[in-house]
Amino acid sequence: MTTALTHARIETASPAAIAEGGHLLRDGRLVAFPTETVYGLGGDSTNDRAVAAIFEAKGRPSFNPLIVHVADQADIETLVMVDERTRAVIARFWPGPLTLVLPRAKDSPVSLLASAGLDTIAVRMPDHPVARALIRAAGRPIAAPSANRSGAVSPTLAEHVAESLGARVGLILDGGPCRVGVESTVLDLSGERPALLRPGGVPAEALEQALGTTLIRPTDHADAPKSPGMLASHYAPKVAVRLNATAAAPGEALLALGPTDGTLNLSPSGDLEEAAANLFAMLRALDRPEFTGIAIMPIPEHGLGLAINDRLRRAAAPRPT
Ligand code: AMP
Ligand code: MG
Repeated sequence: MTTALTHARIETASPAAIAEGGHLLRDGRLVAFPTETVYGLGGDSTNDRAVAAIFEAKGRPSFNPLIVHVADQADIETLVMVDERTRAVIARFWPGPLTLVLPRAKDSPVSLLASAGLDTIAVRMPDHPVARALIRAAGRPIAAPSANRSGAVSPTLAEHVAESLGARVGLILDGGPCRVGVESTVLDLSGERPALLRPGGVPAEALEQALGTTLIRPTDHADAPKSPGMLASHYAPKVAVRLNATAAAPGEALLALGPTDGTLNLSPSGDLEEAAANLFAMLRALDRPEFTGIAIMPIPEHGLGLAINDRLRRAAAPRPT
């Protein structure tokens, strides 16, 4: 478990502090930084362990997909698939409080944990010089949810981050108060019809005008897919998942935890942060027709184990056909 020390280091976002933040991010550490919406808790989005550390620091009992932040429009080209419609929206609204959910690019370097195993990735270019300078200094896309413990209000001042996260974050870059103060609008452009997943800093009407079409709204369907908070479209393996297994039945793959031989092992030492980092990549690796199912050993119900079990219970739940 992470030691919750009480003191956080807050530094004015000088060029030297931003450069240090870039080094920390490349090392897999977490850095909180200002954006125009709220302060973000940043980690290297291409590093599974850094992304697991974000979830650990937030203390969330589930894995929500995270927004991947970039410094320049061109930075998303290797991460996600970009079509003409997307380019037009970006030209009009980036940088700004608009997050786009787009299909994952083949060979995308973004951690599967960052997108909670989904085939889509949420990307955004923040309209804040400190945020973009930090992402450039890190030299990689940065996954960042709001920099607060789960359930607490979103932080719009560096002091809020310090109060909520303490030393769970390596460094807090202080860029003063956030201008917008509400979260980004989340627009899903991965399907044929654009869908509003979360209202935010960019009004839905402005998006509808730019796209020349109405948006599917969270209230349009009771079973609307991918809505934040009620994310119906979770990653689930195609083969059956069996929980709390002590051994594999014939034909099953065994996903182990702790010092046991398995087909794959989430963490031989039983480290739950390592297990979280490996979870989605290993589920995908075992989701093969040659296995009759995936048997998964018990995961302790503490720390990141809560989020791992939440996801595994969903994966094991009966599927709509
Ligand atoms: P936050 O990190 O608190 O700003 O929340 C990020 C929001 O983006 C959440 O509402 C997520 O559900 C949403 N989000 C991130 N990635 C995806 C994705 N791949 N598909 C759908 N929604 C996403
Ligand atoms: Mg939040």
